[in-house]
Amino acid sequence: MTTSPAILVLSALGLQTAFQVKSGLNGSIIYGLDKRVEGADASFENFGDTIRDLYQAGHPIIALCSAGITIRSLASILENKGAEPPVLAVADDGSTVVPLLGGTNGVNVLARQIAAILNVPAAITTSGELRFGTCLLNPPAEFRLTNPESAKTFIADMLAGKTVRIEGNAPWLADARLPLDDNGELLIRVTSDNVIAGENELVFQSSAKTDETSPRGKLSVIGLGPGNPDFMVPAVKRTLQQAQDILGYETYIRMAGTFRPDQTIHATDNREEMQRARHAFELAATGRSVVMISSGDPGVFAMATAVIEALHHADNPAWHEVELEILPGVSAALAAASKSGAPLGHDFCIISLSDNLKPWEIIEKRISLAAEADFAFAFYNPISKPRPWQLPRAIELLRKHRKPDTPVVLGRDIGRPAETLRTIRLEDLTPEQVDMRTVIIVGSSLTRTFPKTGGGNWTYTPRWYGTKP
Ligand code: SAH
Repeated sequence: MTTSPAILVLSALGLQTAFQVKSGLNGSIIYGLDKRVEGADASFENFGDTIRDLYQAGHPIIALCSAGITIRSLASILENKGAEPPVLAVADDGSTVVPLLGGTNGVNVLARQIAAILNVPAAITTSGELRFGTCLLNPPAEFRLTNPESAKTFIADMLAGKTVRIEGNAPWLADARLPLDDNGELLIRVTSDNVIAGENELVFQSSAKTDETSPRGKLSVIGLGPGNPDFMVPAVKRTLQQAQDILGYETYIRMAGTFRPDQTIHATDNREEMQRARHAFELAATGRSVVMISSGDPGVFAMATAVIEALHHADNPAWHEVELEILPGVSAALAAASKSGAPLGHDFCIISLSDNLKPWEIIEKRISLAAEADFAFAFYNPISKPRPWQLPRAIELLRKHRKPDTPVVLGRDIGRPAETLRTIRLEDLTPEQVDMRTVIIVGSSLTRTFPKTGGGNWTYTPRWYGTKP
């Protein structure tokens, strides 16, 4: 996972301080507020969204602004204390460093480091750390506290006078001022084994066991949804932040938002899906975090299948070691349906009209049988220059089974700036109204439509069938 520290800057004065901080923090990236801050590594438009995305992606955050703004922006997503990255507010003139969140993940260590760079004191407020001179909860990287949930009580007990004994080798505690006693009631255990922590005990597991799988690369096949980032699931946003390599069509990469300079973009217009899938595995097998971008849902006429198929046929054990995940997105049919009402509210089928990968006969058969069975339809890949006659033929088949006034929804560029949505009747549907950026929804015999106040129509297919209950 990429965990480069993110330095967020809102003012020109802050940028000077940010450069100073960056000079002492390897791999950190300066994000500047668009139009206010010039010369940052990357820019952002909305402070709240940016800090929340970075936080959820696990990046240490150094905000060159007030503690109040920082906390208020994160308040809605503060949940899991153990999992959060360090978050600090630094005065934009560099005069003070305030650790705010991420006590179990080294915020005080980072605060001291930044304070040393700026030559000011760090505003440490953690009583256990002030008293014992160490952040017990933040061991070096090769150790992991397995039961952080017990830490608060453990430290409170020490502050209240209980003594502690150490089992195993804890070099980072050598200089600490812990109340040590061979018969201590509290126990700090350092081990490479998987042990369950007892009461009054903190267990630090050394990397011999915990890091067993950490060279493992990761491949995430994600769906962006139709386009608007509001329709992108949070797990996808997080994964995009964490990615080291991003693969996909250039259009989708642009849709996915902005990337940091440390992220590598592999834009492709390569139509060979299997080739792209193999490229993704090759990268991930070297231990990198790779994201493969699809629009809509990655499992609907998109990259997830090619990726899994490539894995199925791969005899390279390194590919099978890769941690593979598929993250869903809102597919075009669902996005268009929701804009128009609920035309897919009853049984429906999704058919791609592209005969690039399947024979046209099977498409005709499916349309005819599904139309006869009175399914509603969503048609993807409806028409293109090399495939001009297929859509007219599909319309002809539909008209055999559906009445002329059957509602048809044409959704084009749904969720994108050029979005259009029209509801027409089957008898008025012509291929000229449709292109590759359109999804066509054709109603069943029960699909109804009526005018919406303010223009347009509501279209819906009732949940019931036959006679109304
Ligand atoms: N994985 C995508 C579908 C890829 S197939 C998804 O789940 O949405 C490409 C087809 O999807 C296009 O030809 C078009 O029919 C449809 N499509 C994709 N995005 C669309 C959008 N934003 N608006 C309308 N149709 C879209």
